Amino acid sequence: KPKQRLQKVIAAAGVASRRTAEKLILAGKVKVNGQIVRELGTKVGNNDAVQVNGKLVEQEKKEYYLFYKPRGVISAVSDNHKRKVVVDYFPDVTERIYPIGRLDYDTSGILLLTNDGELANQLMHPRFKVAKTYLAKVKGVPTKEQLRQLQQGVVIDGRKTAPAKIKKVAIKRENSLWQLTIHEGRNHQVKKMFAAIGHPVSKLKRERYGFLDLDGLISGQYRRLTTSEVERLK
Ligand code: URA
Repeated sequence: KPKQRLQKVIAAAGVASRRTAEKLILAGKVKVNGQIVRELGTKVGNNDAVQVNGKLVEQEKKEYYLFYKPRGVISAVSDNHKRKVVVDYFPDVTERIYPIGRLDYDTSGILLLTNDGELANQLMHPRFKVAKTYLAKVKGVPTKEQLRQLQQGVVIDGRKTAPAKIKKVAIKRENSLWQLTIHEGRNHQVKKMFAAIGHPVSKLKRERYGFLDLDGLISGQYRRLTTSEVERLK
């Protein structure tokens, strides 16, 4: 593997953002093979020992997975209450992967996992605006006016949501199914948006994340992203 700039190696390991890494280097907090390095352009290879604040930075091979998360699984790498967590579905992966963002315990669908801290930080940043499409089963049938509100923005947690797209999937007697596409990723956003118009979500699945979908996978399965998919995400 070719040598890389020191700040990039630190960011890729998820220790700090690239900008923060640069500050740490300038502040003399970074050592390479035991020597303090203050030069921002310094290149390091796989076998160089990089330390930040005295802690060794792990330089692992980068892995990227697309996972079909089942309901009843925590989007985390461990859980105090011994509930199932997403990495339980990756028993043979030795790299320390973790989910990019979160799906609720009772939400199923597409979730990316990686050990690439830099890409994870980038995709989770609000500025990045990945389109996420959810299939939501809600109580009752929203009116036209309520659907318009959802699209234009509703206030959740004291702040209006950004414009969203909504598409009807099915209307049943007691409930209805909708496809909602949002670009933000606020806490429990889809549930809060439907709750805000008086039609609480009873079932939620994320069908798409950017250009990626769940084609070919069943619940609980994963696949590696291809290199071109990883490039497209960046
Ligand atoms: N919005 C929610 O309410 N829950 C999720 O899991 C994802 C988006």
